[in-house]
Amino acid sequence: MIPVNSPLLEGNEKKYLNECIDTGWISGEGPFVSRFEEGVANYIGRKYATSCSSGTAAINIAIKALELKEGDEVIMPSFTIISCAQFLITSGIKPVLIDCDYKTFNMKVSDIETKITSKTKAIMIVHIFGLTVDVDPAINIAKKHNLKIIEDSAEMFGQEYKRNKCGTFGDISIFSFYSNKHITTGEGGMLLTDDKHLDKRSKSLRNLCFTSDRFVHNELGYNYRMTNIQAAIGVAQLEKIELIKKKKRWIGKKYNEMLKNFKNINLPIIKTDYCENIYWVYPITLKDNYPKTAKQVMDELKELKIGTRPFFYPMHKQPIFNKMGLFLDDILPNSEKLYQRGLYVPSGLALTDNQIEQVSLALGKVLNET
Ligand SMILES: *Cc1c(COP(=O)(O)O)cnc(C)c1O
Repeated sequence: MIPVNSPLLEGNEKKYLNECIDTGWISGEGPFVSRFEEGVANYIGRKYATSCSSGTAAINIAIKALELKEGDEVIMPSFTIISCAQFLITSGIKPVLIDCDYKTFNMKVSDIETKITSKTKAIMIVHIFGLTVDVDPAINIAKKHNLKIIEDSAEMFGQEYKRNKCGTFGDISIFSFYSNKHITTGEGGMLLTDDKHLDKRSKSLRNLCFTSDRFVHNELGYNYRMTNIQAAIGVAQLEKIELIKKKKRWIGKKYNEMLKNFKNINLPIIKTDYCENIYWVYPITLKDNYPKTAKQVMDELKELKIGTRPFFYPMHKQPIFNKMGLFLDDILPNSEKLYQRGLYVPSGLALTDNQIEQVSLALGKVLNET
């Protein structure tokens, strides 16, 4: 089986993990935690960083840190992971969903302004798969209407929009370090900001809102701490970021070359006016006149021992949210169609030249390409 993802842990990961064991620093305290936070803040170019236990936890903290409240509205894409919406909903905040562009998979920034009401408090921009959101117009809209920006850069570590790094555009920006992300800590996340107050709130919320009077609390928080063990892996991963970016782009280019004559699929866009694809994953969509669904193609690839993943299930169609009476009137055709027509193929950092050729061969067979 060629798995859809397998991480590369060939640098100082083992050495730093041994240091954790040798020194006994295995909890949420320890030298690697602040070292990783400082390393990420420096690399991305932000003043403050707060590590935490996952990208999802980072989103939850961001929403609380920004003091979004029941009844507020947040504009966000439908084509994304449930992590972006669920904490809003359980907090009584209303996600207002917009559709994505069919080719870049990213939110249609031009639709944002049509959704603004007196209750709108923030825009959540989420960069998808390898290309960035068109950030500048989103920031202009936010400025004009006095809205906060939460930037979900989980899939974009190291990626740039107009030569500025993703992770620099939000009042709070977040990353995930899940094992399929560009750099990984197994599970993990990070919040970045330039605002001292937001940083202080993030660090407090991550750590149960302890005060200087230990065990006396003025607000409710979470135990979302990243362990020194996770951070040790993160520090080792960050040392290799330039190689990681190169490898991702190499994987993308190799697939582009192998699949360029396929008639039944659309390949990912190589670049836009504002960014060059970083191929977090390698997504393909089946052409409209091609009869099989993405699900059929994925099943047939599985028979040939090739791992795949479906695209995101549109947020406005999530059974749990519909059962709660949410999003029932939303019609967002691109997000809906992408789930039917899209899939991504193995693109983890441990992927070899030979494996890319095997995947391409298998894909050719399944798609009846000659
Ligand atoms: C992976 C991901 C997350 C969630 O991160 P976890 O660390 O898995 O909780 C959030 N948003 C996007 C866009 C992601 O790809």
